[in-house]
Amino acid sequence: MKSISTQEISRRRFIASAGVAAAVIGLTPHRLFAQKETLVEKARKAGATAKMNVQALRGGVSALIGSGGNIAVLPGPDGKFIVDSGYLTSRDKIAEALTSVSSDPIKHLVNTHWHFDHTDGNEWMHSAGATITAHENTKKRLSNTTRVDDWDFTFPSSPAGAIPTDVIDGDKTLRLNGATITLKYYGPSHTDGDISVYFAEADVLHTGDTWWNGYFPFIDYSTGGNIDGMIKAAESNLAMVTDKTIVIPGHGPVAGKKEMTEYRDLLVLIRDRVAALKKAGKSLDEIVAAKVTAAYDAKWGGSFINGDFFTKLVYKGLTNQAE
Ligand SMILES: [Zn+2]
Repeated sequence: MKSISTQEISRRRFIASAGVAAAVIGLTPHRLFAQKETLVEKARKAGATAKMNVQALRGGVSALIGSGGNIAVLPGPDGKFIVDSGYLTSRDKIAEALTSVSSDPIKHLVNTHWHFDHTDGNEWMHSAGATITAHENTKKRLSNTTRVDDWDFTFPSSPAGAIPTDVIDGDKTLRLNGATITLKYYGPSHTDGDISVYFAEADVLHTGDTWWNGYFPFIDYSTGGNIDGMIKAAESNLAMVTDKTIVIPGHGPVAGKKEMTEYRDLLVLIRDRVAALKKAGKSLDEIVAAKVTAAYDAKWGGSFINGDFFTKLVYKGLTNQAE
């Protein structure tokens, strides 16, 4: 028998104990040795090179589209009112786009929810002069270490300057720059802190991530989201708009009621298909293998949420229900 050196034994012990430690702290061993780039890190990196397009909509409201969550801005004598702050890595492009809209200072920022692609820019916008308004659960997530299992990522608490300064727990109406702006809480849907922002005179709605135009949406179960809440939010978005309303989704191009209806119908259809298979006794693996999204994958699977991932997210919301 070949003898094993002391060094080899201690190396083996190290690997074994590292494996145990990894299991305890929730990491798979390979991540301890070869750090794989997470989806969050990839997204932030992409933010450094993404292009930011400014789209003038109506009543002075513009949308900034192209990097991170879609941003809305209403400039005026009360200072710029901004919805969501994008990636920190896109700061220069966002600042340039905002300056192209007007020279008014940045004064007001609203976060539609806590996700990094909507709040990474909070600190710089706050230091530029913005108060930050958000739902109390958004403040809670940003103030604490927050793990998102489906992204395999743990976000440290945000720096003091990035934390919302004005917290709402329901609905709120603001009067700024001659506009009536209504913030509306959805209840648990994409997360547990989602709010919409409606510019009444302009008839422009920002839905945050309760609407992904043309993409299967992410649903963040780690922080209170669920598929039924997403469907409820899609219904409440539809109840808020007419055929004339211009709607800024959290992700995807600006559109309106027609596209929102298509999206709501898709969520309901996939939910019902997954629920029916679950009721018939199928396991998650069998349901994923059944490819219930197949006819929609080419059109809706273009983001990091492909059909299989979305099916799993839907299933997760049904696990505690007697379907
Ligand atoms: Zn989000």
